[in-house]
Amino acid sequence: MAYRCKLAFLYCCKYLGLFGVARLLTRRELRVLCYHGFSFRDEHAFRPKLFMRPETFARRMALLAARGHQVLPLGEALDRLDRGTLPDAAVAITVDDGWYGFLRFGAPELARRNFPATVYLTTYYAEKQAPIFKVLVEYLFWSSTAATLDLDGLADGLGGQVDLADPAARGRARDAVIECGDERLDARARTALAHALAGRLGLDPAPIAGLRMFELTTLDEAKQYARYGIDVQLHTHTHRISADDRAAAEAEVMKNRALLSAVTDAPIVHFCYPSGLHHPRQYEWLRALGIVSATTTVAGLHYPGEERMAVARLIDGEDVTDIEFEAELAGLGPLLRRTRRAVADAG
Ligand SMILES: [Zn+2]
Repeated sequence: MAYRCKLAFLYCCKYLGLFGVARLLTRRELRVLCYHGFSFRDEHAFRPKLFMRPETFARRMALLAARGHQVLPLGEALDRLDRGTLPDAAVAITVDDGWYGFLRFGAPELARRNFPATVYLTTYYAEKQAPIFKVLVEYLFWSSTAATLDLDGLADGLGGQVDLADPAARGRARDAVIECGDERLDARARTALAHALAGRLGLDPAPIAGLRMFELTTLDEAKQYARYGIDVQLHTHTHRISADDRAAAEAEVMKNRALLSAVTDAPIVHFCYPSGLHHPRQYEWLRALGIVSATTTVAGLHYPGEERMAVARLIDGEDVTDIEFEAELAGLGPLLRRTRRAVADAG
């Protein structure tokens, strides 16, 4: 009900012309959009924040064009923000992780509209050419309609019969398989485990593998981004960055950068925090590595003079309706959040 009220409120705001007012008030601020993967089948129903239908993405891009937002490469947008020459309500498009579905569906859509973008590519699974094990296993458990699962002999450390109708038991089994794969197996063995699991869950792993639903692009494929006008940038090697251990954090970035240097000739100086997790302690570590911007998953606009190692973004997903997306893009969502925070602080 609250959600329906929110949507009705947004339609009223739009009708009253408040989207235009918000856009005017926030015109100097940069809108950095954030996307992830794309659906081949029903992945958007499984994880609507992680996977978007290609047609939803096409609709969003059409809206950017219809509302006259200029889309700039991230680096240029940030430079022009500093110099005060950013076009009004300018947009930069960023895409996290480097899912194969983005190369397949998202990149051609962007090229059709001449929209530049930045893809943050995490390199471990790109190099191994294996599906992202955790997401694949979660998908298998989500899509199975089997009543029971026999874990005996599936892998060392796994065993027992699971009643899949019991959500808690189902969740425990899923987590045990993920933990087993992560801690005991290499990428190839993890994939074999996921395929065996699919069989026991009554699913056919062949189409999932054939479509590459849960894979990233290979490093070789990522070279194709240049011809779509898409810049390849940093997202760590194994999709994690320490907030306590500087050497470990640096190693993640440097390994990622070393592998990406074979993919692109452009300077590799933009970073995206994996899973959005960041700490002010990391800002100086990143600057020392020559990084000039780091994006988060904090929802908001990026304004002149703001911390460049914590760039807020507008997070789009299949769970975001068109009216919500339009409100965020206009700056109304960010303005309302800012106002709420100010009122809370004052109180
Ligand atoms: Zn990520």
